[in-house]
Amino acid sequence: MTLLDGKVTARAYKEKIALEVQEWVARGNRPPHLAAVLVGDNPASVAYVNGKVKDCEQVGMKSSLIKLPSDISQEDLLAKVAELNADEGLDGFIVQLPLPNHIDEKTVTLAIDPKKDVDGFHPENVGRMALNLPTYLPATPHGILMMLEHYNIETIGKHCVVVGRSNIVGSPMSILMARNANPGNATVTLTHSRTVDLKTECLRADILIAAIGKANFITADMVKPGAVVIDVGINRVDDASRERGYRLTGDVDFDGVSAVASHLTPVPGGVGLMTRVALLQNTLQAARGEN
Ligand code: NDP
Repeated sequence: MTLLDGKVTARAYKEKIALEVQEWVARGNRPPHLAAVLVGDNPASVAYVNGKVKDCEQVGMKSSLIKLPSDISQEDLLAKVAELNADEGLDGFIVQLPLPNHIDEKTVTLAIDPKKDVDGFHPENVGRMALNLPTYLPATPHGILMMLEHYNIETIGKHCVVVGRSNIVGSPMSILMARNANPGNATVTLTHSRTVDLKTECLRADILIAAIGKANFITADMVKPGAVVIDVGINRVDDASRERGYRLTGDVDFDGVSAVASHLTPVPGGVGLMTRVALLQNTLQAARGEN
């Protein structure tokens, strides 16, 4: 079994992006600039946003972290979004999800200028993705494509089964794998909680992508021998032996599936790191005005 190592892959892409940033700046441009808006202090969101800011520094990009209180009104948040849309010194920004319950995420997503929507969540960008037009690809599926590319995994004509149909992972992943593009050109089955006989569907997969949010849900008996398995899940499992009281685990039973799969991503150290790299790639694309 070949480990699809997010650390190795992310490092390779970051080196490439850092060189491209250097060249961009050497041509007289200012460094690409990403802003991250963090509402409240959800620990997972704080960790994600801090990671994104650190990544920017590593590749020579500028980053701004905008912290807003959890009781901010939707109106005030929308005013901040409008300010960022108009800021010419900023190439792209993200509003870290989830937002507090009193704020409607769809309204906020719609308010972001599609040209600055480096998360690729705005309906205009989702539509452009579906039509195979230049756009920002959503970070997690984009990161997975970069991972498949890095390991030269053939996707053309393969049967890809995606488990989970969320707007940010499963649905765009299924669209991207089916597009007439490379990676892509796979025959795709998109499954979800209403799928009848999920095991049979999964067993047909040459490439199985799990984005469910349930620890160790995909077991060895659901995986075709030799399949490529991509584990998107990030789940907290109680673990008294850890100082923080939990450990992170994916949606795939790593030990069992590693005996059957040809390739497998670890959690942590897999897709999560590539998600962060994809955001950098989108920010560089925004700076170049390529969307
Ligand atoms: P959502 O909760 O939005 O979606 C989960 C999907 O899984 C839904 O489509 C749901 O189906 C489906 N599902 C749930 N139970 C079953 C089941 N028993 N059988 C089949 N399908 C099922 O999650 P996300 O897509 O946002 O995230 C999925 C996981 O990936 C989470 O662990 C999350 O933390 C992680 N994640 C990791 C990222 C990374 O960078 N590595 C980035 C984003 C997320 P239905 O639609 O019918 O309810």
